[in-house]
Amino acid sequence: MKAMAAKGPPGRVMRPNRADDAPADGETVTAPERMCVICRRRFPKAGLARYVAGASGMTFDEEKTMPGRGWYVCSDTECRKRFAKFRPGVRRKKGVLCHRKK
Ligand SMILES: [Zn+2]
Repeated sequence: MKAMAAKGPPGRVMRPNRADDAPADGETVTAPERMCVICRRRFPKAGLARYVAGASGMTFDEEKTMPGRGWYVCSDTECRKRFAKFRPGVRRKKGVLCHRKK
């Protein structure tokens, strides 16, 4: 006599491959965007630091309300580092020429 091992069908777990689309937050507010002067990526204004060229170099404009030409830098560490050396279009007055040394 042969013992018939009744094997049931392998238990298959059906996994519904559902694409769970995250529901939209309804955040369609068009926030003002500004460009980081270093990496030139665009960010919402709120996520950027604004600097204004003052008499004594760059001034951090915390309120983003200071008059004058402002520069925006994103929160990227590299950008902040590079911005420290950033010189906004400083126009050399004539007469100040770089002497080329050979
Ligand atoms: Zn940047």
